Amino acid sequence: MANGICIFAENYNGKLEPASAELVSAARRIQETTKEEISALVVAESCDGIIEELKGIGVEKIYAIKTDHDLLLQDDAASQMIADMLKKIDPSSVLIPATPTGRSLFSRVAMKLNCGLTADCTELLVGAKEDGTYYIKQNKPSYGENVFVTIITREGYYPQMMTVRPGVYMVPEQTEGQAEVIYMDDIQAPVSQVEVVEILPQEESTDSILSSEIVVVGGRGALEDDNFTLVKEFADKIGAAIGGTRPMVDTGTIPFDHQIGQTGLTIRPKICISLGVSGAIQHTEGIKDTKLFVAVNTDENAAIFKVADYGIQADLREVLENYMKL
Ligand SMILES: Cc1cc2nc3c(=O)[nH]c(=O)nc-3n(C[C@H](O)[C@H](O)[C@H](O)COP(=O)(O)OP(=O)(O)OC[C@H]3O[C@@H](n4cnc5c(N)ncnc54)[C@H](O)[C@@H]3O)c2cc1C
Repeated sequence: MANGICIFAENYNGKLEPASAELVSAARRIQETTKEEISALVVAESCDGIIEELKGIGVEKIYAIKTDHDLLLQDDAASQMIADMLKKIDPSSVLIPATPTGRSLFSRVAMKLNCGLTADCTELLVGAKEDGTYYIKQNKPSYGENVFVTIITREGYYPQMMTVRPGVYMVPEQTEGQAEVIYMDDIQAPVSQVEVVEILPQEESTDSILSSEIVVVGGRGALEDDNFTLVKEFADKIGAAIGGTRPMVDTGTIPFDHQIGQTGLTIRPKICISLGVSGAIQHTEGIKDTKLFVAVNTDENAAIFKVADYGIQADLREVLENYMKL
C-alpha cells in the first residue's frame, strides 16, 4: 500500500533549490498526523552535495539517480525517469516546488502515472478518512485568485501530487541528520528529443523580493498623486525591494510576481515598511513573519496598525519627503 511523503529535490549545479528544502517543513506538518516517512527523490549529475543537504534538513530516506548530464533540463526523458522511480517508491504523496521546472516536469509525470496534480498550493492540511487512513487537503487560490479551494485527490489516482508555492513554508533548521540512501541505478532515462543548446546565467536581479532583507510595500494609498514615484525613490535609497497589494497589480503598477499576500508571495524580510496599505487579511497573511514591521497610513483605525510593530498615522508623502531630505 502506498506510504510515505516524497519530496522532489529540484537541483541546479549540484545544489538543492531552496524551494525544495522548504517542502521538508510542509512534509513534517503532514508527518505529525500521518507518521509517514519523509523521503526525497534526487536526479542529478552530481548527487553527493545534494544528498548531504537533504540529510542536514531531516529527510529520512533518499532515492537517487546519478546522471551523466543535467537531465532535469530535458523534460521528456527526466519525467519518464521520475515516473519510473515513483512507481517503485510508491509514496502516498509527492510534494513538488511550484517552480517552472517542477511544474513542467510533473505535469508530464502525472500523465505517465495516470494521477492528478494540484498546482500552486499555499497550504497543505491533513484530513482523516473513516477507515483511519489520511489524505492531504490541498488548499490553493483559484478562479482568477478570487476564491480559495480545497482539492482532494480521488481514490485510485494516487500518489497525491501537488506543487507548492515557494516561500510559503520555511527551510527547516539544520540537524545532525541520518538518512538511508538508495541508488536506483536499474532505472534508465530514455533518449531525450530535447537538445540543450546553451545555458545562460540569469541576470542579477536587484529587486529580488524573496531574498531581500528590506521590503517596501505600496498599497492603494501609494497610487494617489504620483506617490509611487516617491515610494520607488525611497526604496532605492534604502536598498529595498518593492512589493505591493493587489490593487497595485490590478492597476499595472507592479507585476503580479511582486504581489504580497494569500494569492501572491509570502515574504520574511528583516524589515518591511508598508505605505498606504489598509491591512486586509488576504494581504497581511503574506507578511506575518516579518521581523520588524512599520506601517504608514492616514487612517488611525486602519487594520494594518494591529499587525505593525510601529505605526505612523500620517500621509505617506509627508513621511517620505521628510526622510528623503535627510
Ligand atoms: C480571495 C482573495 C484573495 C486576495 N489576495 C490578496 C493578496 O494576495 N494580496 C493583497 O494585497 N490583496 C489581496 N486581496 C485583496 C484584499 O482583500 C484587499 O482588497 C487589498 O489588500 C487592499 O489593498 P490596499 O490596502 O492597497 O487598498 P485599500 O484597502 O484601498 O487601502 C488603501 C489604504 O491606504 C490609505 N491611504 C490612502 N492615502 C494615503 C496616503 N496618502 N498616505 C497614507 N495612507 C494612505 C487608506 O487609509 C487605506 O487604508 C484578496 C482578496 C480576495 C477576495
